[in-house]
Amino acid sequence: MRQTLVAGNWKLNGSLDSIKQLVAGITAGAGGTGDTQIAVCPPFVYIPLVSNLLAGSKVAIGSQDIADQEAGAFTGEISGAMLNDFSCTYAIVGHSERRALYAEDDELVARKFAAARKAGLTPILCVGETLEEREQGITEDVVARQLDAVIKLESIAAIGEAVVAYEPVWAIGTGKTASPQQAQDVHAFIRGKLAGLDQAVADKVQILYGGSVKGSNAKELFSMQDIDGGLIGGASLAADDFLAICMAGT
Ligand code: PEP
Repeated sequence: MRQTLVAGNWKLNGSLDSIKQLVAGITAGAGGTGDTQIAVCPPFVYIPLVSNLLAGSKVAIGSQDIADQEAGAFTGEISGAMLNDFSCTYAIVGHSERRALYAEDDELVARKFAAARKAGLTPILCVGETLEEREQGITEDVVARQLDAVIKLESIAAIGEAVVAYEPVWAIGTGKTASPQQAQDVHAFIRGKLAGLDQAVADKVQILYGGSVKGSNAKELFSMQDIDGGLIGGASLAADDFLAICMAGT
């Protein structure tokens, strides 16, 4: 039985004051979210603060990105070891905004995935198609290609120690959610593809859905057979909205 995981991706949002308030709100309500696993991914600079504020709560912390390198002359990058120093559990890799706006290709994403694992972090590997790709009928090809790059560099076993997030690009931050069945279809494809390589990995891996998840649609999405929780952008920035999604996983 896979547990439900709800992870908030705060992106480039927040200030010292607003983040303190957000964390206080989340920790105040997190105790009432049953077995749902919860994580938040603040901007890098707030990770030490948020990590301290979350100590003793059930809420884990992750990063929104990670360097593919361990150390050295890589200006602006943050390594897995640095994230470990502040008790990070997760590292998001391959978010569609990084792929589209910062030209991260499948190979770089795979190297970031490997760097996260090497540092003992659990990668949250984002995959998903653009609207154009969906309309061309190549959603499964795109998702398979994104997964294959990681499996080729690492291994199928490594996927079993990670989290996969299916995030149709056309649903991110647009208010357009994939219908539960549309999401389930792709989740089932992903799990089936993994099962073709290793059934135990497919049975174990949490596959999250991301794309305009809200308190009002989370329950229906999370009740689908292959949807094991959500990666949440906009709705993770208000404690009540985020907790409502976490409650939907109970
Ligand atoms: C995301 O960026 O991962 C995301 C799912 O954003 P939103 O919930 O705002 O669509």
